[in-house]
Amino acid sequence: MGFQRIAEVCEKGGDGVRDSPVFFFAKNRRDGEFSLITADLIKQVDKLFINGEWVEAASDKKIEVINPANRKVIAKVAAGNQEDAERAIAAARKAFDEGPWKEYHPSERAQILFDIARIVQHNKEELAQLETLDNGKTLRESRGDMDGVIRTFRYYAGLCGKPYGETFEADYPLSAKVVREPIGVCALIIPWNYPLLMAAWKLAPALAAGNTCILKPSEVTPLSALRFFELIQEIDIPAGVMNLVIGTGMDAAQPLTESKQVDKVAFTGGTETGKKIMMNSLSNLKKVSLELGGKSPNIIFADADFETAMDYAVFGIFNNTGQVCSAGSRLLVEKSVYDRAVEDIISRVKQIRVGDGSIETTQMGPVTGEKQYEKVLDYINIGRSEGARIAFGGNPLLVEGSEDGYFIEPTVFVDVLNDMRIAQEEIFGPVLCVIPFENEREAVQLANATPYGLAGAVFTSDSAKAERMARKIKAGTVWLNTYEENLIEGPWGGYKQSGTGRELGVYGYEAYTEIKQIINNLDVQPTNWFNS
Ligand code: NAD
Repeated sequence: MGFQRIAEVCEKGGDGVRDSPVFFFAKNRRDGEFSLITADLIKQVDKLFINGEWVEAASDKKIEVINPANRKVIAKVAAGNQEDAERAIAAARKAFDEGPWKEYHPSERAQILFDIARIVQHNKEELAQLETLDNGKTLRESRGDMDGVIRTFRYYAGLCGKPYGETFEADYPLSAKVVREPIGVCALIIPWNYPLLMAAWKLAPALAAGNTCILKPSEVTPLSALRFFELIQEIDIPAGVMNLVIGTGMDAAQPLTESKQVDKVAFTGGTETGKKIMMNSLSNLKKVSLELGGKSPNIIFADADFETAMDYAVFGIFNNTGQVCSAGSRLLVEKSVYDRAVEDIISRVKQIRVGDGSIETTQMGPVTGEKQYEKVLDYINIGRSEGARIAFGGNPLLVEGSEDGYFIEPTVFVDVLNDMRIAQEEIFGPVLCVIPFENEREAVQLANATPYGLAGAVFTSDSAKAERMARKIKAGTVWLNTYEENLIEGPWGGYKQSGTGRELGVYGYEAYTEIKQIINNLDVQPTNWFNS
């Protein structure tokens, strides 16, 4: 599989198939070598995976998947609906209630997760290229995502069976212990900005804890999940444990959140969708974890290592084209270095090579879809009308050879007031708002003055100040002298409207478990309560 096969197809196909939805992946590496992955390799592109097999969706409606670098249709995937969601729920329910999965020894579940990691590792390049084709991100970013997927499955494979129960003192003759059990059927609903990575963050801990799952990827970027499910077929996973439903949020995901047969919803996506999901989950009070949006402050003090701070300021907002929940979209800069910082940032942003993510030298890809493209451009206009000054960018970008792509100039707004909409609302694109501050107190006040609380960062050479700031910032993650370091071993999630619950680490594992106390009577005899 992989490149040898690609090369064979390539010889037969040639350049003419480049944009055909039948041959659904074609890439000219611009180095004379032409490689492609075709629908022939991804056989199940218009199917769903339910109860251990690829099945036709109930309706023959299809969703067109677009390459954001050129707006060409690269695949037509099944548009799953309520009927499909219900089939997947029934399969996952049966697999949980009657199947062997939750009775597997933890080492058996661990082996399956290790096998998944191995398969992703083996197919890393193909999956990365597919992710780039579908999402638009650069190959470097996609390869990084795949490394994250591999590490996540390995980490949770290692964790299987490790979190153990506790005992506590109970009045004699009682003895008590606390055990963790899987919750049951989990609906895993994910966004388009890190398609396979977000799937891994949910699938790995859910499976490690013994749950059964229904994965619903974003309808904008379903391809890597489809290919992933195809690739892992070689592993012996009991039917119904892992199901894949493709479709829109309304048609395929909402029925999962409303169903009384689903025990938990784990969601990553927009805050408004998260609120809707919480409401819809009330039917059976299912467990809900929400990883939502952000408007994270990246705070630069005058005593910071200037080069490092500037480097991370640019990385923090323009990596992944700014489509990162924890993007450092508000850059708070101490007044004494403000002008110098703005000048330095502009000189760096000018150098960013924007283009088709599948070209190795590209540093920033397009925005992922039309809806997002329009949204980002709207926000740029809102910023202008609010009186913020554009110091760089602010326009759609015409990229030679990819004229139809959803490209936007990396954009820097300066002299932004923190109560402007562009500083309060999540833009989710390559738009930085630079805001000056006077002192530590004002930095904390500005940092916390949004409805969000996902992440934040502080750049300073004063370690006590760094720690003070970290304690005062209301966010689930605070980076000190770095940005966007995601540790699989640590807790990930938000304060305020950035979400509820935590993913990753042991915290993420526990979020897929119920806690049970078992109380044992060591002196078995009647109480005679009603005989006295
Ligand atoms: P979105 O909320 O539009 O969609 C996310 C998923 O929810 C998709 O699979 C979609 O089909 C589904 N969905 C839509 N409506 C639904 C409904 N009524 N019921 C159930 N599911 C529904 O988000 P998006 O545009 O795909 O992603 C961008 C958002 O994701 C941003 O706000 C970003 O901050 C957030 N995000 C957060 C994190 C985090 O860890 N906190 C990580 C990545 C992305």
